[in-house]
Amino acid sequence: MSCEEASHVCDKAQYNESTFLERLKLRIHILFCDLCKKHTIDNHKLTETIKKSNIVCLDSKSKSEMKKCLEKEIKNQNAKH
Ligand SMILES: [Zn+2]
Repeated sequence: MSCEEASHVCDKAQYNESTFLERLKLRIHILFCDLCKKHTIDNHKLTETIKKSNIVCLDSKSKSEMKKCLEKEIKNQNAKH
């Protein structure tokens, strides 16, 4: 699996659209690839934060602004570790 594929599966997994085999391959890939591992963790954090925030209806501009804000927050968190 290439990094490009891994990132694609990671995005699909976020919406529960990935198959078991795809997720398995992704897991194996991130064992060897720190870049995709980081991407997967960030993606997961983002999904969890959005779920927790309970915001049902947002226009696309607010969504992208919120995403930017969350990504910044995640970077700050990572910097602390
Ligand atoms: Zn990779």
